[in-house]
Amino acid sequence: MTATAPREEQLWLRCTGCASLLYRKRLRRNLDVCPECGEHARLGAPERLRQLVDPGSLRLLPDRLPEADPIDFVDVLPYPHRLTAARASTGLAEGVVCATAAIGGHPVVLAVMDFRFLGGSLGCAVGELITRAAERALDDRTPLVLVTASGGARMQEGALSLMQMATVSQAIAALREAGLLTVSVLTDPTYGGVAASFATNTDLVLAESGARMGFAGPRVIRQITGRALPEGFQTADFLLRHGQVDMVVQRRSLRGRLVALLAATRAGRPARPPVPRQEPAPRRERLADDGAALVRPAGPAATPAAGDTPALRDAWDTVRLARHPGRPTTLDYLDSVFDGFVELHGDRLGADCPAIVGGVARLAGRHVMVIGHQKGHTTAELVARNFGMASPAGHRKALRLMRLAARLGLPVVTLVDTPGADPGVSAEEQGQAAAIAENILTLTVLPTPVLAVITGEGGSGGALALAVADRVLMLENAVYSVISPEGCAAILWPDRSAAPQAARALRLTAPDLCRLGVVDEVVSEPSSAAHDDPAETADRLRAALLANLLPLLDVPPAMLVRLRRQRFRRFGANRAAARAGLR
Ligand SMILES: [Zn+2]
Repeated sequence: MTATAPREEQLWLRCTGCASLLYRKRLRRNLDVCPECGEHARLGAPERLRQLVDPGSLRLLPDRLPEADPIDFVDVLPYPHRLTAARASTGLAEGVVCATAAIGGHPVVLAVMDFRFLGGSLGCAVGELITRAAERALDDRTPLVLVTASGGARMQEGALSLMQMATVSQAIAALREAGLLTVSVLTDPTYGGVAASFATNTDLVLAESGARMGFAGPRVIRQITGRALPEGFQTADFLLRHGQVDMVVQRRSLRGRLVALLAATRAGRPARPPVPRQEPAPRRERLADDGAALVRPAGPAATPAAGDTPALRDAWDTVRLARHPGRPTTLDYLDSVFDGFVELHGDRLGADCPAIVGGVARLAGRHVMVIGHQKGHTTAELVARNFGMASPAGHRKALRLMRLAARLGLPVVTLVDTPGADPGVSAEEQGQAAAIAENILTLTVLPTPVLAVITGEGGSGGALALAVADRVLMLENAVYSVISPEGCAAILWPDRSAAPQAARALRLTAPDLCRLGVVDEVVSEPSSAAHDDPAETADRLRAALLANLLPLLDVPPAMLVRLRRQRFRRFGANRAAARAGLR
């Protein structure tokens, strides 16, 4: 077991469920479940591992990574201070503990998150460690078991933490392709970017009794809808009733259930010969590792990068421009940049989300599938389109169109402009987290070129659901962020009036994201902004799309997927640290 240094052992604890005073040792013997009321207390990662794995089988995987403060984030405290405090209070190096072990004699790789460490937040190091655990499972040809506990992506690492949702998802996709079982065990609480990626895009999803899981947290939903939430909202039983988990499991049965599932899948599949470890890529491909050189446009960049222009806008001013109601929408671009758009509707499961539009169109004579968020210019339009906030049905429509494009051999162009995915009650009931997670995972395996453009607001997981792409472009006055500046300010500053400071700290502008490698190219806007000269903006966007799309058309699908995965594999902690050092 890892070197945890439990703080002073109290002899008696009060149950948060029934307020009974409980003898600590008795509680621990009962797996930290209250013997009086059945309340499941939260577990740290080391204790969770101890409960799940066969005695003597645990081998911890390395947990030390180079220090990373990739965006020099400071709120009321510098981020490194918060990291140091989290390490001191938990005895852990990071918010996840990864290990190989056996469960009922079945070898597995485990990654167990620890909510005590900065709320189990998903940063570059956590993403890197879970990705390495998944890669180890692939190498060893063993199942991967994830135990999640997280408030979501780690704000202090900006959009780089958002990228971890894609990085871990593509590692899960590789296990799926290899026929290896992935299981996630949701524990309390599992929210945001973790819920909307690897907590729900595994083969099996188990919820521990008392766990709550959702895309949006209850506080945010209450704030936005202004209504009280239904009884038991987002609890394990709610998730089961709404078809989002395979089962709800009491802690005392969890190990047994895992043993049974691991046994069934091993029995069902004859043992395959081990796949040899991947040889180093041939030199030509290794050259492509960093900037995906093979798919870089041959000619000069289509448009000058905004970073080259002398006067840089303040991040908060850019946020306001990105949200300007006059800014061209996806339907405007379908009219001005593309020809012959034929809209395709519906998720085939019962709904058609108006916040996502998609269909076939032509780009300079070439057929493409275009999928984008649709806002509007008037209040009525905005309301009708739910402000560009897609429901699960919207994400499933997008998923259907992506897969259709791959079957038809059409490249996919996505236009991203959303404050975020719909955070409503019915969105949660219909599985918003899983819908986003499946889109992210599918984009990492899609055998056709994918080109994403952040045209306005790139809001968190809802944006990433359309933006795992071979090339990611961004209009000069667009923003792309792990959380809205207002949301970030409300959590890390005394109040939401600090949104302008939060906007600066989050590094959400196109030039910053280009420097961080999240975005490949900035598409400049006419002198003031896109809404002042939509025609000129459209011309520039068309030129940038063509310059980036044409080289992708010659890349064989298998290589395209490999390069796309390399692109999203490079956001791990090592690279982030290297970039921090370069600055
Ligand atoms: Zn109790």
